Amino acid sequence: MPARLCRSLRQTGPRSRRVLAALALAALARVAWAADYSGPLFDAHLHYNEEAFNGQTGPYPLADVLSRMQRNGVRAILANSRPNEGTRQLASSPLTRQAGVTVVPFVRLYRNRADYDNWYRDESIYAMVQTELARGTASGPFLGLGEFHLYDSGNANGAVARKLMALAEEKNLAVLAHVDDAAIDLLMAATPSRGQKLRLIWAHTGGGASTARVDQLFARYPLLMGELSYRPGLTCEGGKLCPQWRELLLKYQGRFMIGSDTWVNQRWADYDGLMKGYRVWLGDLPPDAARRIAWDNGARLFGVGEK
Ligand SMILES: [Zn+2]
Repeated sequence: MPARLCRSLRQTGPRSRRVLAALALAALARVAWAADYSGPLFDAHLHYNEEAFNGQTGPYPLADVLSRMQRNGVRAILANSRPNEGTRQLASSPLTRQAGVTVVPFVRLYRNRADYDNWYRDESIYAMVQTELARGTASGPFLGLGEFHLYDSGNANGAVARKLMALAEEKNLAVLAHVDDAAIDLLMAATPSRGQKLRLIWAHTGGGASTARVDQLFARYPLLMGELSYRPGLTCEGGKLCPQWRELLLKYQGRFMIGSDTWVNQRWADYDGLMKGYRVWLGDLPPDAARRIAWDNGARLFGVGEK
């Protein structure tokens, strides 16, 4: 070996070791980042429907659903139900307090399944909402409206839909809307501020809307929030975040929330798996961003204390 090369290797040796050490540290940091998120969760899309509680004799009584939340570190829930009785039970039961779960109650716009397709033009729904708001729950007033669906975005122009959006803004109620991107613009346009002051939580963050379109709407409406259950394209291999979504979540880390969407009993059966799935991809984010999406954003939106 030529003496010069030998000397040069000796000189670079320690540097190589430093590089190797730095790489090893980076790998360790990556492992630390990749660990599942372990902090509190705010379930921002929860239903406690009749099929679950069924006059308190259903397959998922209060004690059962609360223990599911508790063992998954779910410390607050945005709750709504068809009919509203399920939410009232959750909000008023001493079991809920014992489980350490804070309930943010929303008025569901449906008394039964027929209301799904007609609420946006049915004056009796508007009257029902007024009655429920006046009545509240044993643990406090309703803080929002929804979840509601619009299968045709044009129905966002329905007289009752428009009145309810204006009411929400006036009374500072949040809304949980399962709608497409076109309906977001229409619902926002129905408020006095033209959407600048409406706290609209977009269930499933628009389903099929592209990340570019979500970005555009988030930029347009400063209080628009995205809930991430059933969101296509969110996760890739191993339940980790897909690159485009990771970028969007980091860009708007103050605007996203997670949710179970327990719309059918199967989702209650899967509750552990759903929350575990969130913890996996949340662990893929820097800890601050993960904590915001998992907990802080929902807690801030509804003034829920530290957990
Ligand atoms: Zn839902």
